[in-house]
Amino acid sequence: MRIKSVQAWWVRIPIEVAKQHRSDFGQVTTFDAAILRIETDDGLVGWGEGKNAAGSAGSYGALVHMLNHEIAPQLIGRDPADIGIIWEMLYNGVRHETAAHAGHAMPQLARRGMSVAAISAVDIALWDILGKALGKPVWRLLGGRKVERMQAYASGGWAPADAIGEQLKSYIAKGGFKALKMRVGAMDGAPHISAARVRAARKAIGPDVDLMVDAHGTYTVAEAKRFIKLTADLDLAWFEEPVIADDKPGMAEVRASGSTPIATGESEATRYAFRDLAMQKSADIFQPDPAFCGGISEAMKIGTIASAFNLRFAPHLWAGAPCFFAGLHVCAASPASFIIEYSLGANPMIHDLVEETVEAKDGMIAIPEKPGLGFTISERFLEAHAQRI
Ligand SMILES: [Mg+2]
Repeated sequence: MRIKSVQAWWVRIPIEVAKQHRSDFGQVTTFDAAILRIETDDGLVGWGEGKNAAGSAGSYGALVHMLNHEIAPQLIGRDPADIGIIWEMLYNGVRHETAAHAGHAMPQLARRGMSVAAISAVDIALWDILGKALGKPVWRLLGGRKVERMQAYASGGWAPADAIGEQLKSYIAKGGFKALKMRVGAMDGAPHISAARVRAARKAIGPDVDLMVDAHGTYTVAEAKRFIKLTADLDLAWFEEPVIADDKPGMAEVRASGSTPIATGESEATRYAFRDLAMQKSADIFQPDPAFCGGISEAMKIGTIASAFNLRFAPHLWAGAPCFFAGLHVCAASPASFIIEYSLGANPMIHDLVEETVEAKDGMIAIPEKPGLGFTISERFLEAHAQRI
């Protein structure tokens, strides 16, 4: 089996006005991703996804160009089952053979960011192909699944203090969730306004539902510490991205200031970044995004680091279908996983892009049974929303 064709698209799906929300990312009017299709000479097709923007909107022209014109020529004719070898080849660039012989990485200069987003898309698609070739779900190839259904949390929560309770209760009514995440930070203007919203949320949902908050990295260290103090009695399950990813010592200072668990990692790529988070004691919960951190292969390595440091693992899955499904398989196979992110914002990149119905029941998500990653892309829908670049 050899790779015959590689094609990426910038897929941009408009979000209906009634389903849009506003956060520190502005009014979210589209859902964008780089979607990758790899086909083998015996007709198997694998799908991948690469991400280079937070929120759901962003420009993907450069990433798609890189996939089609720089990555694709390196993949044609290769055995798609060589997933780890191909990962290291793309990461190490022209020195990949020297690195392979030496037994340590010699990465290319542009080794993070868009480069690893491109590797992520390739890696996810190759796992999809390998599963389909062997007739097995990907979790089977990663060591098995620990559960058939996994607890999910409803990810959303943008409403002001007087409406956040109703918004979160609507999530519980919709999917039976026992864990909810709301947004805080710069969108509120000041920590005490965020804290008042979180207090209203806790009052509305009661003490038995897990409540998480996400600041999208928009606080200073001082603001984040103040927020922890103001919410110390609200039993938060985690405080996500209190400060920017580039301030790992600052995040460690925030973590040490109270007992609220710190979650982070959607802005981080590769095992090396998560090693630093672990060594600097910056976080309690690692949240790599499979479409940005380096794909399924790297997410599994990051989960292993979490386990070795007695930390937990809850991948960032605000994503399109290839990334979301990749996350389901990774979570099912990882010892440190415990919960799955399920977006309650408008997400046409999952719900309209694939033929399967993706839903939470009793707050749980089923781990797919089908060979590969377990979804079927609607290629007509994809082509209808592919940008001309
Ligand atoms: Mg987040």
